[in-house]
Amino acid sequence: MPNTTTVSTVTFASLNLAEPLMRAISDSGYTNPTPVQAQAIPLVLAGGDLLAGAQTGTGKTAGFTLPVLHILSQKPAANPGNGRPRCLILTPTRELAAQVEESVQTYGKYLSLKSMVMFGGVNINPQIKSLRGQIDILVSTPGRLLDHVGQKTLDLSAVEILILDEADRMLDMGFIRDIKKILVLLPKKRQNLLFSATFSEEIKTLADGLLNNPGFVEVARRNTTSELVAQSVHMVAQKLKSHLLSHLIKHNDWKQVLVFTRTKHGANRLAEKLNADGIPAAAIHGNKSQSARTKALSQFKDGSMPVLVATDIAARGLDIDMLPHVVNFELPNVPEDYVHRIGRTGRAGSNGAAISLVDSEELDHLKNIERLIKTQIPRVAIDSFVPPTNIPAEAPRPPRPQHGQKRHSNTTGGNRPPREGQPARDGQAPRNPDATRRSQQPRTGTGPARPGQPRADQAQARTGAAPARPAQPRTAPQKPMSEAARHQAMPQPALFSPRPAVRRGK
Ligand code: AMP
Repeated sequence: MPNTTTVSTVTFASLNLAEPLMRAISDSGYTNPTPVQAQAIPLVLAGGDLLAGAQTGTGKTAGFTLPVLHILSQKPAANPGNGRPRCLILTPTRELAAQVEESVQTYGKYLSLKSMVMFGGVNINPQIKSLRGQIDILVSTPGRLLDHVGQKTLDLSAVEILILDEADRMLDMGFIRDIKKILVLLPKKRQNLLFSATFSEEIKTLADGLLNNPGFVEVARRNTTSELVAQSVHMVAQKLKSHLLSHLIKHNDWKQVLVFTRTKHGANRLAEKLNADGIPAAAIHGNKSQSARTKALSQFKDGSMPVLVATDIAARGLDIDMLPHVVNFELPNVPEDYVHRIGRTGRAGSNGAAISLVDSEELDHLKNIERLIKTQIPRVAIDSFVPPTNIPAEAPRPPRPQHGQKRHSNTTGGNRPPREGQPARDGQAPRNPDATRRSQQPRTGTGPARPGQPRADQAQARTGAAPARPAQPRTAPQKPMSEAARHQAMPQPALFSPRPAVRRGK
C-alpha cells in the first residue's frame, strides 16, 4: 500500500474499469484505490484534462495507467498504423520510463494493447525495429523521442492522450525546450494529463499552456514527509562519513540501503570504498552506461547488491518495494530534494528509515530542510562507532552551490551535451552537471581551522577515539550556530544510538 491512506468510500468496483483491468488489479493484490487513483481515475475516464499533484509512492502511475488502458481498450484507433502511438507518456528519466512501462504491462496484461518504452543511452536500432509494429502506448524520455522524430521512425500525429509524468523534474532537468518541440508535433485535439510533485511558477505556466479546463487532484501536500519514515541526523565530519556508513551497515546488518551523494564522482568513490570494506555496492548516475544502470538496479532490487549509491537525478522516481533505508551521504542543497530522497522509503505502507550524515558545514542545508518540512530531525549519537586513526587528508572538493542556484543551466539546441537521466544522444559525451555546481573557490572538506585551534575533525582523526556520548537525540538549535558552536558540534562522530530513531510526523 502506498504511503497515503485509501479513500474508504471508493472501491475499484465503483470506478467502472473494464473487466480485464479489474483482473489485473486483483492479481496485483490491491484492495482499494489510493486517494490519487480514487480522484484521478473518474476524471480521466470522463475524458477531461487533469492537473495532478502527486509524488512517487502515492500510486499515481496506476492513477493514469488504468484509465488510459480502459479508454484505449474501449474504442478502436481512429487512424491505426505502425509506429503511431495513441498515448504518449513522457518521463524525465530512463528508470522512471522503464518503471511506468512495466506498470502499463502489468495492468494491461489481459488486454491486447501494445506498449513500448524508449530512452537514450542504448542502441537506437532495436527501437526503430519495434516502431515498425503496432504501438498503442509509448513511454519515453523526451530526447530520444525527438531523435526518432528526426529520423522519421516515429509518427506522433495519432496521439490521443498525452501524459507528462514528474513534470517538475522534467523542467528541473531543462527539458522544457524538448517538451515544446514535442507538443507542436501532436494533434491539437487530445487529452492531457500533467503529474507533478510540486507546483512552481514554471509548472503553472506549463499547465496553463497545455491543459484545457483541467480537473485538479492533489493528494499529498507539497513538501511533507511520510509519517512512515523515521528520520535521523548523525553529525559527522565529511572525511569520516564513509567509515561511519560502513559501520552502520555492518553493525545494523542493513540489507538494502539507497545512498544519495551530491556528485557522480562522489558516488563512484563511495561505492569503491564500501566494496573495499566488504560491502557490495554499485553506483548509478548519468555517466554510467544504461546497461550498467539497469544491472545495478536489478541487483539492488533482487537483494543481491545491498547498497546502491545514486545521485538525485538517477534515483528520481525509483520505486523499490519495501526499501528499508535511505542514507543522505551529503544533504542536498535544494531542500525539496530531501523530501524526494526520503520518499524512496516508507512507501507502499511499510516503515522506513532516512538517515542523514551531516558535516558541520552542512548545517545551513539542514536548517533549510527542517524549515521546509516543518520538523526538527532528531540528532542521534552513535556510541558504537570508533573512527579509524590516520585518515589521510581529504582532497579538495568542489564547493556547494548556494540554495536557489540553478542546478542545471537550460540547454540550448542541437549542440548541447546530454543531461543526466536523459538520453546521452548518440555520439555525444555525457554532460557533467557537477561542473555547473562549481563556484569560485575550492574548499577542503571541513572548513578552515581557526588560528591556534586545530580543526575538530583533525584532532579527532589524530586521537582516533570519539568521545562517548550518551545515546540521546539532541534537538536542533533554534538559532543559527556560531562558528565556534559548529566546531563544538563536530567531535561527535560517535554517533550511534542502537535505539531506533524517533519517528516524526509532518
Ligand atoms: P507509484 O506512486 O505509482 O510509484 O506507486 C507506488 C507503489 O504503490 C507501487 O509499488 C504500486 O505497485 C503500489 N500501488 C499502486 N496502487 C496501489 C493500490 N491501489 N493499493 C496498493 N498498492 C498500490
